[in-house]
Amino acid sequence: MSKKADIAIIGAGPGGIFAAYELVKLDPSLKVTVFEAGFPLSERQCPINTGKVKSCIKCPTCAIMKGFGGAGAFSDGKYNITNDFGGTLYEYIGKEKAIELMKYVDGINMANGGEGTHMFSTAGSSFKKLCLQNKLSLLDASVRHLGTDKNYVVLGNIYDQLKDKVEFLFHTPVESVDVTEDKRYRVIYEGDTLDADRCIISVGRSGSKWMESLCEKLSIPTSSNRVDIGVRVELPAVIFSHLTDELYESKIVYRTSKFEDRVRTFCMNPNGIVVNENTNGIVTVNGHSFEDPERKTDNTNFALLVAKHFSEPFKDSNGYGESIARLSNMLGGGVIVQRFGDLERGRRTNEKRLNESTVRPTLAATPGDLSLVLPKRILDGIIEMVHALDKIAPGTANDDTLLYGVEVKFYNMEVKLSGRLETNYPGLYVIGDGSGVTHSLSHASASGVFVAREIAGTQ
Ligand SMILES: Cc1cc2nc3c(=O)[nH]c(=O)nc-3n(C[C@H](O)[C@H](O)[C@H](O)COP(=O)(O)OP(=O)(O)OC[C@H]3O[C@@H](n4cnc5c(N)ncnc54)[C@H](O)[C@@H]3O)c2cc1C
Repeated sequence: MSKKADIAIIGAGPGGIFAAYELVKLDPSLKVTVFEAGFPLSERQCPINTGKVKSCIKCPTCAIMKGFGGAGAFSDGKYNITNDFGGTLYEYIGKEKAIELMKYVDGINMANGGEGTHMFSTAGSSFKKLCLQNKLSLLDASVRHLGTDKNYVVLGNIYDQLKDKVEFLFHTPVESVDVTEDKRYRVIYEGDTLDADRCIISVGRSGSKWMESLCEKLSIPTSSNRVDIGVRVELPAVIFSHLTDELYESKIVYRTSKFEDRVRTFCMNPNGIVVNENTNGIVTVNGHSFEDPERKTDNTNFALLVAKHFSEPFKDSNGYGESIARLSNMLGGGVIVQRFGDLERGRRTNEKRLNESTVRPTLAATPGDLSLVLPKRILDGIIEMVHALDKIAPGTANDDTLLYGVEVKFYNMEVKLSGRLETNYPGLYVIGDGSGVTHSLSHASASGVFVAREIAGTQ
């Protein structure tokens, strides 16, 4: 006999959490069950962070990517309020609505421990002009920076509010979803099942393969998405401080003169640290920073990424990115680090050169040669971009600037959805990064609120 719920939510990342939050707020009588493959927030512990191991040991349930809070739980907590990047939610629900929902989410975060954190904005910034004068383009956004520590507090407070109103099933990966004869959704997990009138799927990037197989099984149309490939740059924080003090995160785009490819900065972490990221067993690089002054470092890091989109005859953009990441793992046993000067001179960085570098790495990565990993076209674009950034932040192209590779942003394939974020099955919704529509905390959270309001009929 199947268990019953009004609404099943699969995944307790920002998308799933905000859907649950809004549903029980709008209709407390609803029985909402949330399935989460990972652990509750308090039990999420990466063995690297607890000092048990030095590098990623590929745990069966990655504590960084999975559990209450999803991939965003230990992130820098940067909530970008913008339609310029972070996803294409606005294409489904409209620009005004998307911004309104992102602001609404910000309000909830503020009411749950985020108050006092800074909201940065590009509006009226003189850097726009400086960027344009140097063939760079600064994208518009307001950025709430919660910081890794506050982000954790906010998630904890939201969980405390929800835990008695919503049923959370942790450490419960959903195997599949079936459609029953009476048009309900049967969630299949650990030899058990639950039938729900409606089902919201919010499985994020870590659930991309699962999502693909479910779409195949239920004949839900999908299309391929892009993959972003590049490096994480780490340099002394003072080099970028004039930008980061005013804007915190600047999303800057450069069009290369050689190939006219777009290279962009991504996920800037002033006084932050570089970290490993494990996606489906492949170790890539990422970064974050803390709001707590005691945990700040002397370095700033950010990614430089080039987007690649394959459609015909090869369609597997993510597979391409994975192969490049695997190559770096094969050569470096994980993430590779190289001094910019060594890269330009065509030589690998070794322990000796790294130890002599004036930039102290915040991640224990293997010194090596990124030119053996990254395709020439991508590498050329990154080198051009470093020199372009050097014009607005002199010192970026210093020999000792560190490049970690590879950073890959995998995007889920796009699930075909209506303007209600509903699949071709009425009552089956796909939200957040798992839908391919969002790629950020703010957009994923907003998509959760949107679907909750759709279901409650209060849009
Ligand atoms: C290190 C890091 C730093 C980041 N920093 C930022 C940042 O500063 N700003 C920003 O905007 N974005 C950032 N991001 C991206 C951001 O975290 C994601 O865009 C966001 O978390 C997406 O939310 P989501 O709910 O769609 O998916 P996720 O957060 O990925 O959550 C999906 C959840 O679903 C669960 N799940 C998957 N499959 C199943 C299954 N079959 N059954 C049950 N549960 C399942 C997973 O365990 C996971 O907890 C960062 C990401 C990382 C990894």
